[in-house]
Amino acid sequence: MLAEAALTVREARGLLQDTSRLSPEAIDAAQKVVDRFYAEHPRHKVCVACGSMRWEERTGQSGDLIWACMGCHRSADFTREQLFAEQAPTRATDAKRTVAIRQLAEAELEPSVTAALEARIAYVNAIAALGWLIRQGHGDARAARLLQEADTPPSRWPEAAPAAASGGRLAARLAELEGEQ
Ligand SMILES: [Zn+2]
Repeated sequence: MLAEAALTVREARGLLQDTSRLSPEAIDAAQKVVDRFYAEHPRHKVCVACGSMRWEERTGQSGDLIWACMGCHRSADFTREQLFAEQAPTRATDAKRTVAIRQLAEAELEPSVTAALEARIAYVNAIAALGWLIRQGHGDARAARLLQEADTPPSRWPEAAPAAASGGRLAARLAELEGEQ
């Protein structure tokens, strides 16, 4: 017969399903293993990973039953230190991105404002020139289309949505900065 200490919870529970051929000592030993497992139920414990306070039996890495969080399935033994280590790669990525965005803002805000102002003046003047040429009888189909599209806000031009989503002129630079960290 297995000694009490060597029984897993799973084995002990299996033995107790049919006690007809077990000695009283063996039944007692198996019952102790099961009782100890239930005594270890982390009733009022808060999961360090997800804050849940609900625990369930699950199969642990050893193959035996453990108490695990119902929310994130981590073991009740899971520690803050383990959580910290688990999150380290994500934290490092987030930190890199924060630094990259700050550098980008410092370097690119002023040039972007200047570029927008200059482009706006250039655009207004170019459209005015095309409109004037058309009125003098010298337009063509491209000029007519550009003049017509000048009545649509630039934010609704087909090329605007993808540029707005990616950060436009900043997208490539952000990828570079994140890569450099
Ligand atoms: Zn959890």
